[in-house]
Amino acid sequence: MTTAPSRRSLFDEIRPYTPDPRRCDIDLSDNTNLWGSPPAASRAAMEDDAPSFARYPEVYSETLKDAIASYTGVPADRIVTGCGSDDILDLAIRAIGEPGDRLVLPDPAFVMIPAFARVNGLTPIAVPVTSAYDVDVEATLAVDASIVYLASPNNPTGTEFSRAAMEAIVDRAPGLVVVDEAYFEFSSGSMVDLIERSDRLLVVRTLSKAFGLAGLRVGYGIGAPRLIAQVQKSRGPYKLSSVAARVATAALTADVPWVMQHVGIAVENRTRLASALGELGLTTLPSSANFLLVPVRQARAVAAHMRTLGVAVRPFSNIPTVTSALAASGGEALRITVGPWEMLEQALVALREALAACA
Ligand SMILES: *Cc1c(COP(=O)(O)O)cnc(C)c1O
Repeated sequence: MTTAPSRRSLFDEIRPYTPDPRRCDIDLSDNTNLWGSPPAASRAAMEDDAPSFARYPEVYSETLKDAIASYTGVPADRIVTGCGSDDILDLAIRAIGEPGDRLVLPDPAFVMIPAFARVNGLTPIAVPVTSAYDVDVEATLAVDASIVYLASPNNPTGTEFSRAAMEAIVDRAPGLVVVDEAYFEFSSGSMVDLIERSDRLLVVRTLSKAFGLAGLRVGYGIGAPRLIAQVQKSRGPYKLSSVAARVATAALTADVPWVMQHVGIAVENRTRLASALGELGLTTLPSSANFLLVPVRQARAVAAHMRTLGVAVRPFSNIPTVTSALAASGGEALRITVGPWEMLEQALVALREALAACA
């Protein structure tokens, strides 16, 4: 039997997240809402509640939970809030994982997860997706991990995992299953109904993407009351600032039509961008999110050239070459956030020029 690595050695393996800090005119690199923040949230943010800053906020953001309950249709005792969904993911790993355990995730997956595993003393194990970009159920279960992490739609692929594979994991995994639905508003489905079937399922969502509030840092988790109580214990009181809770509550109460209208435009522009990329001879992965993954050789050089032209996109390498387009690009790709069409037109001009320069 091999001994598990120590929390200290796992901690020392973490490489800090260092995206390019320079602001760029057109930033299509982080999947935020390129139409900006919604109106009711923006109005709420301007309210002067400085006189109340001497007091603590609500202990567990109860008013915000009620707003999340109306938005999701899930009772408030099945909801936990946090500072962005990153926080919820970290809290859940800390609540359920034991140092020395394994956490299994697909390859590719959201880049922060291995760091959240290690910081809590768990070893991340990545299992390549199948050629249909689905979860490899048997290989995932064979890891015998205490936590399974899956994002659907997945980041950076934008693809959704099949309901059958997700149900198999939820039914058969022995420990916690975390389903990250950061992009669910752009997709066709959700796994939230499965919390009725398993008290070991945590669905995690955010206001950073469709809701246009990434700077506010608000996320939430949905699960059975017992699991939520565990995660909330890990969260502790007063986690969300009173400003974040108030603005997020306004958004969930009054901005849903604005959000859905812009989700609709994003989905249209996603199709339009995919066909424009096709005209450049590029294939895109089938996306259910507000971004496209585009297999491209020398992705890092292409992205650097595009940046000199005022357009930021995110390059990826070492993506499992499960399709012919990814095999042809050597597992390299660009992830491009979908926004207003004028921005995407400029991105296409920059991409065409960068591809010519890097050929
Ligand atoms: C952007 C993103 C998050 C992080 O969201 P925050 O709520 O801003 O912390 C979580 N998961 C995935 C898959 C993401 O792409």
